[in-house]
Amino acid sequence: MIRFYNTLSGKIEEFIPLRENEVRLYTCGPTVYDYPHIGNYRAYIFEDLLKRFLLFAGYRVIHVMNITDVDDKTIRGANSLGIPLNEYTKKYIEAFFEDLKTLHILPADYYPRATEHIPDMVRMIKGLLEKGYAYFKDGSVYFSIAKFPEYGKLSKINVEELKAGARLDADEYEKESVHDFALWKKAKEGEPFWETELGPGRPGWHIECSAMSTRYLGPTFDIHCGGIDNIFPHHENEIAQSEAYYGQKFVNYWLHCHHLVVDGEKMSKSKGNFYTLRDLLAKQVDPLDLRFFLLSTHYRKMLNFTFVNLEQARASRQRILDFIYEIEHRTFPPGGQQEKIKELSDRALNDFREALSDDLNISSALAALFEFIRQVNQIMSREKLSQEEAGTILQTIREINRVLDILPEKKEEALPPEIRQKIELRQKARQEKNFALADAIRDELKELGIILEDTREGVRWKRIK
Ligand code: AMP
Ligand code: ZN
Repeated sequence: MIRFYNTLSGKIEEFIPLRENEVRLYTCGPTVYDYPHIGNYRAYIFEDLLKRFLLFAGYRVIHVMNITDVDDKTIRGANSLGIPLNEYTKKYIEAFFEDLKTLHILPADYYPRATEHIPDMVRMIKGLLEKGYAYFKDGSVYFSIAKFPEYGKLSKINVEELKAGARLDADEYEKESVHDFALWKKAKEGEPFWETELGPGRPGWHIECSAMSTRYLGPTFDIHCGGIDNIFPHHENEIAQSEAYYGQKFVNYWLHCHHLVVDGEKMSKSKGNFYTLRDLLAKQVDPLDLRFFLLSTHYRKMLNFTFVNLEQARASRQRILDFIYEIEHRTFPPGGQQEKIKELSDRALNDFREALSDDLNISSALAALFEFIRQVNQIMSREKLSQEEAGTILQTIREINRVLDILPEKKEEALPPEIRQKIELRQKARQEKNFALADAIRDELKELGIILEDTREGVRWKRIK
């Protein structure tokens, strides 16, 4: 049974998707006005963990992530350089996709862009006007939160003190200033605008996620994610818009990750306390160490960014890499499988799955992995494993890595079989004390670019660079 903490109910709930074996997932994407900071990547990596776990658990996942390429910030950026909006955002969209690859974040199935879905948003706003949930004021359209009695159900905000008819044009605001919010903003001097049935203007930020999520996933879908800062007003407003328009429940499970913080404060552009991925790459940080760092604290806990914490994550990940290196670079004698290794592997996979089923309990999941490594190391210190057993161990780690994806891409092809056979032949010669033959094979391999190293645990090979 899979369970998640649902922000909407404030409880841990059993996860049951609407369609059998299929999960429809929407995650709020970047506003492409600058390079994302690693706080943003905490959210995207949490979402990646969730998605990979659902895939691992056997679901098909349909994932949509929006790209906000028109809003207050992107317009400000384009205007400051005096270039068209799409030219300005293009650079950051490309950088974002590059970062996703670097951080091993699986691509979404759809990346709808706000500027390419204006007609969807206009249709929805017109519907909201017709149903009486929205109204025009000075050429802009606002959502009347008084008309939607359930307003506040996600963020548990109290709307009683709200001044009737008070409006706000800004896309982002604090809980203290809950107001009617803009769906459509009248064209302003110096801002890009679209000629539509609502008049010339541009969409507010919130409507894009209601229009684009339901466009690709249907009026009701399974999971919607973001960071906790998205709960109010963004997701609260998405619920109001979507449920008022469609007259049915918008999303069944709302999952939010806590923030990446620096000295107790949310990492953000406006506070200036941020690093981009590029900043860290320039400091020689391995992006997969960063991935592991962001991944390895439970998503609902605050995560403190320091270089010391990042170093701890690096050291932990290194233990996994060293273990794999050991297994991959030793030669194991041919032979069958003992129950013990199979049992340990099954248990590791099972514990890993169980842990993540419990609201993505990553600490327990990683504990299962490290326990597996510890036990295998213990066995290896006492006895020789067979090729088949080594294969089972690697297979187990690879399965787990389908979720974590923290191993570097293989830069080298696997050892060709004829070379492996030569190594085995040499070992046999050594055992038979035929050192002349053993040395001849070693020299032959050296010619082929492979150096051998005899260690207490057996022979290891390396390629000559
Ligand atoms: P934005 O581009 O500001 O809309 O943010 C994109 C995503 O990153 C949203 O899901 C935010 O909730 C999330 N986010 C922003 N800052 C942080 C942070 N410091 N820690 C975790 N998530 C964040
Ligand atoms: Zn959104």
